[in-house]
Amino acid sequence: MESIFISIASYRDNELGRTIRDCTDKAAHPERLVFGINWQHDNHEFFEQFYDRRCRVIDTDYRESRGACWARHEAQKLYGGEDFVLQIDSHMRFVRDWDRICVDGVRKLQERGNRRVIISNLMPSYDPDDDGNLSRTYLTYRMGSFNQDGAIALKASVVQKPPPEPFSPGFSISAAFVFSIGDLYREVPIDPDLYFDGEEISYAVRAYTHGYDIYHCHHPIVYHYYTRKTDRKHWDDHGNWGERSIMAKARMRTLLMRSGEVADLGPYGLGTMRSIEEYEEHSGVNFRERTVKQPADEGSFPLTRDWVRSKLAAGGIGTAQIDPFSHCNARCWYCPVRYHPQPPDARRHMPIALFEKILRNLCEERDRKGLVSPAFNFIYTAHYNEILLYRHLTDMFEVLRKHGLRTLVLTNGIALTPQKADLIARYDDVVGGQVCINISAFERDRWIANTIGGNGASPATMRRTFHRTMKNIEYASQHLRGVSIQVNEPDPEQAAHQVDLARQMFPNATVRSVTSLSDRAGILHEAGILSNREDIARKSAGKSSVTGCGNTFTGIDGRHFGWLHVNALGKAILCCDDYHFDYTFGDFRTDTLRDIWLSDRHATMIERSFREICTRCSMAVWR
Ligand code: SF4
Repeated sequence: MESIFISIASYRDNELGRTIRDCTDKAAHPERLVFGINWQHDNHEFFEQFYDRRCRVIDTDYRESRGACWARHEAQKLYGGEDFVLQIDSHMRFVRDWDRICVDGVRKLQERGNRRVIISNLMPSYDPDDDGNLSRTYLTYRMGSFNQDGAIALKASVVQKPPPEPFSPGFSISAAFVFSIGDLYREVPIDPDLYFDGEEISYAVRAYTHGYDIYHCHHPIVYHYYTRKTDRKHWDDHGNWGERSIMAKARMRTLLMRSGEVADLGPYGLGTMRSIEEYEEHSGVNFRERTVKQPADEGSFPLTRDWVRSKLAAGGIGTAQIDPFSHCNARCWYCPVRYHPQPPDARRHMPIALFEKILRNLCEERDRKGLVSPAFNFIYTAHYNEILLYRHLTDMFEVLRKHGLRTLVLTNGIALTPQKADLIARYDDVVGGQVCINISAFERDRWIANTIGGNGASPATMRRTFHRTMKNIEYASQHLRGVSIQVNEPDPEQAAHQVDLARQMFPNATVRSVTSLSDRAGILHEAGILSNREDIARKSAGKSSVTGCGNTFTGIDGRHFGWLHVNALGKAILCCDDYHFDYTFGDFRTDTLRDIWLSDRHATMIERSFREICTRCSMAVWR
């Protein structure tokens, strides 16, 4: 019986044990499985197979971890010459006989003349609390577009019927599921100095140049728990993750764009069996120009009303952004509503009954396996607003608790009073330790200029507001778990300075900076604040039209088909860029989710958005 080595890098993940159990339970031949696990954990964590003789374990204190690629690299070292290798994440579920499907798949694909074959997929999601009901979701794949650091990722779309061939050739991988012959681990070791962005495309190009052909399967083989909202990630615990990420991206650019930023990539460079130019020619990806040409047979992309309708009916709503109160008490310089406020009638508090109706509709569709994915369990309440000012905040938490849903609190800190912090603490099962404070500065005058300057208050009031906000953050960081501070500042030096200040002032909080701020459908460009026009020009070069949205966290679909957005009036709107509510397509006060989602008006709005708002957005997908 041919053996399979399964490599897992697990970071503080209590799904690890259940993943291994599901993997063995569903295998046609569990006796051929061997696990190599880099177990990065705290001292009170455990997984049930720790003493199972099939598990080779590297026992790592999570504080010593150097990130996902390093962890996968270490797990690879446990490979002992097995016939096949499988790399997965530690939060996965499997279809029955998955091992037979993978081995038979590789054997069949090898009949095309190349024994070096990789099967790698994006995958549908699963819900750990309902993993007896794995959806029969079919996916097709294409390359996405480049992000500003030069990384490009595989994208998936849900289709109602899979293509006739179970496997199709591809040019990137998903690191959460890679199945291949054992030689892959001998020939293409994972670069431990990559961090996150660029891991998959770098490995795909290296494997390709080592002679490997990559294929994607359209039928589900595994399922992935994408959201993991309450779990700690490496970057939550490691303040230096930003430096590691910067170095990692330089390695990626050196490999793919031949930028020369790193003198020697050591054993983690390209192979010699094929060139990167051959990869570019066959994949349509041009790394230096940062463009992607889709294959010729995809030229007739089915952008028709029927195609839009079938995508809407496919049951892909994975998450929702419901904004029960559309007003903000700050005027942050990077926020579009500072320059173009939302319509005045949006400044109202959504009645709690309406809020509950929307959630009930979502949960009912999920439970009947209708329009909402089985994995749906989380909503966002942020839409250029300050959610802590919502009049029915306590009721909102109650409704979320009643329906078993979670959210996060995204705030500028001004209204994060000790009373509100104590309230959030009482709903820890709902907020799940996720309080994120968006802020750009910690020096009084800079904070005032960036945040509330020009709001009409007197200088003395503004100074008091600053000191009260800092006290709020101090109290919250001492009394709530999981408080993170996001420093929004495009200048890297200034960002590093503000991050240092925040760490000194609030040692209990996790602090990170975001330097890549986004224009919102052209408003910030028109206001002369920041622009994504170059990025858009690069992505759209040689392409004729927008056909989708890359603004998603799950890898599956984008805002058009994977999200529901509702404003404080109860109107369904296109997405987070539609803050003038130009693309409304239904009203929850009078209609149900099903009426709204499947309406002609919705399909019309999507088609319109492809021609209008999306063409001004750097998240758009072009063909
Ligand atoms: S404007 Fe279009 S591309 Fe941009 S986030 Fe909205 S739906 Fe996505």
